[in-house]
Parts: sequence; structure tokens; C-alpha cells
Amino acid sequence: MAGSPPKTAGILALQGDFEAHRKAVERAGGRALEVRTLADLEQCDGLIIPGGESTTMLKLLDQEGLTEPLRRFSEHKPVYGSCAGAILLAREVTNPAQASLGLMDIAVERNAYGRQIDSRIAHIPMPEGDDLEAVFIRAPIIRRMGAGSTVLAEYNGDPVWVEQGRTMVTTFHPELTGDLRVHRRFLDKL
Ligand code: GLN
Repeated sequence: MAGSPPKTAGILALQGDFEAHRKAVERAGGRALEVRTLADLEQCDGLIIPGGESTTMLKLLDQEGLTEPLRRFSEHKPVYGSCAGAILLAREVTNPAQASLGLMDIAVERNAYGRQIDSRIAHIPMPEGDDLEAVFIRAPIIRRMGAGSTVLAEYNGDPVWVEQGRTMVTTFHPELTGDLRVHRRFLDKL
């Protein structure tokens, strides 16, 4: 009996640390495809939007004609955004205000930990076992979440890993650690 064909996790590869996400997907046992064109996107069962610079990524999405296709993609396929990716997915963006894809009902404040402490590594206690190692780099803070949100991890009282149905965000960078829990959860959605 033939098994179901393996699912493909797309990684938006226009800018940012997409390569680290590709490696994390592969370490978690998934099949990864770097997405630069509409033809690439059409081969994917889900998409990861990596960290990087959200303003630049928005421009490149427009230039490549991927903004609307990505919105349509998210209507029936899982999308996960990490850091700048979370900013792109949020319905509302402040500090400064910025356009976004608006695929998830959350409000985020960019660079919310301030300029002095640009990045940090936190160890977040998790109910099911080992602490989650979370790398924050000029991270946003999620200031509001719509109905139907599940908080999967919090740091300093703020949600840092949130799911809304098919859509998921982290304000930290799981691809920079050996901790594959976030990528595994995303692969399970495909
Ligand atoms: N501060 C960046 C932005 O606003 C995000 C940083 C990151 O992805 N590590 O786009």
C-alpha cells in the first residue's frame, strides 16, 4: 500500500535567515523548498516566513508579485512567521505603523525590547518538559490577540509563541537553536 506523498514546507527565501529554517525543517524530518516565485509557492503544503527585515520583505513580496498569492495560500494552508515573519502576518503593526499581510488577528509592536538590548537568549519553562531556548533579535512584542488564539509560550508575561488555527507565529528564532519543537508543530499541520 502506498503511503501519502511527503509534504513540502516552503520557506520564503527573498530575504532574512531562510537557510537556517530550511535546515531546521530538514533536521525535524520534513521536506523543505525555498520559495522565491509563485511557481515555488504552488508546490508547497505550508509556508514559513523567516526573520529578517519586515520592511524589506514587504517590498520584495510586492516586487515578486507574491503578496496576493500568499494571502490566498493562507486561506487553506498553514503559515508560520518568525520575528519579522510574525510582523508580516499581524493584522496591526506599530512602532512604526507598517502595512502587513494581515493574515493573523494579532497586533505587534516592532523592536519592542528597545534599542539598548537588541538581542537576548531566554530559557522559557514549558509545561511538557525541557525549557524552550528562545533567541530574540530586535524582536516585536505581541500586544493584542484576537479570539481563538492559543498561547504556546510566554516570556516576561508576553506571549511569544501563538497559534490561531492554521497560522502560527513566534517572536523568537527557533531556527537558531537545536530545539525543534516549533518546526515539528508546524510540520504536523501540513
Ligand atoms: N526588527 C525587525 C523588523 O522589524 C525584525 C527582526 C528579526 O526578524 N529578527 O522587521
